[in-house]
Amino acid sequence: TFRAWLVEKQTDASGSASQTASVSDLTDEDLMPGNVSLDVSWSSINFKDGLALTGKPGVVRAWPLIPGIDVVGTVTSSETKRFAVGDEVLLNGAGLGETHHGGLAQRARVDSASLVRVPTSLGAKRSAAIGTAGFTAMLSVLAVERHGVTPGDGPVLVTGAAGGVGSIAIALLAKLGFEVVASTGRADSQGDYLRRLGANSVIDRAEISEAGKPLQSQTYAAVVDAVGSTTLVNALAQLNYGGIATACGLAQGADLPGTVMPFILRGVTLAGINSVDAPLAMREEAWNRLATDLDTDILDELTTSIGLEDAADAAGRILKGELHGRTVVDVSA
Ligand code: NAP
Repeated sequence: TFRAWLVEKQTDASGSASQTASVSDLTDEDLMPGNVSLDVSWSSINFKDGLALTGKPGVVRAWPLIPGIDVVGTVTSSETKRFAVGDEVLLNGAGLGETHHGGLAQRARVDSASLVRVPTSLGAKRSAAIGTAGFTAMLSVLAVERHGVTPGDGPVLVTGAAGGVGSIAIALLAKLGFEVVASTGRADSQGDYLRRLGANSVIDRAEISEAGKPLQSQTYAAVVDAVGSTTLVNALAQLNYGGIATACGLAQGADLPGTVMPFILRGVTLAGINSVDAPLAMREEAWNRLATDLDTDILDELTTSIGLEDAADAAGRILKGELHGRTVVDVSA
């Protein structure tokens, strides 16, 4: 047997459904189909895992399900030539922890289509520390680069700065030479942390979270947003002519209550970022760049390590906005 978190759905006599999560003993027979089996070493806590582990609807869509949208482990059997027994591999999204058994377990069986080799320069734990949040941060930075933005064009705003996506985006952008402005609701407690990651300045998220004018002072060459809602609308209104904002998250809200003015008067671009369904070539490009462009000392500084049983506590805290950086789960501890 192996230990795993399991999210189950109960329906009471009146027909209303609720979700519970607990650590269970499972066997390989409980795993779903896939062509690669793994001994899992690490998983992590993302915003979505917070929702799944605390019984919030929307993430888990198959029952019962092992949560965990990230998995890192060692191949124990493989039906594909791409991977051999003993290979260290990682998978982010691709249905893990949503429709397919995920990473918060000691064993996993996955489809190899989106599976990526653990970069040797990073190793298993650091790859989990990057996880979906860091992979998404890299996809956002790649979109900014593809748009042609360079450090000389002006500062880059990162919203949700102390969170997982935000923290890694700051580290990546700073290493690439960009001037980084970090927007956080925790400037008092996290300001020094954000500067150590590479932020040049820190602003209070309240400055950009309330409804503002359709066009505001041109301030940023690019924005990496994990927050959505009014924050993203204000960020678009503060982009320089021809600038780009990437949208990956909804920590403030899923709405986008804005106007077309930044698009039609300043030619700005809004680029959507989706890590879950990213094709393999994009995954490999992003992971190659993460292996070379992310300062591992900074990654270690933003990483907190917990055991499997502690995942529920961390899940509650990520939803309350109390975690900073990335939290990795040692599934054997
Ligand atoms: P996280 O660690 O919880 O970070 C989110 C951060 O957003 C928080 O740390 C907080 O930063 C800020 N925040 C929280 N509530 C807010 C509010 N009401 N208004 C403004 N800011 C608020 O989560 P994460 O794992 O980095 O994920 C961030 C977002 O990206 C989530 O919405 C997640 O679902 C999404 N995401 C999407 C993809 C994708 O593929 N599209 C992939 C990964 C994540 P401060 O304390 O610094 O203000």
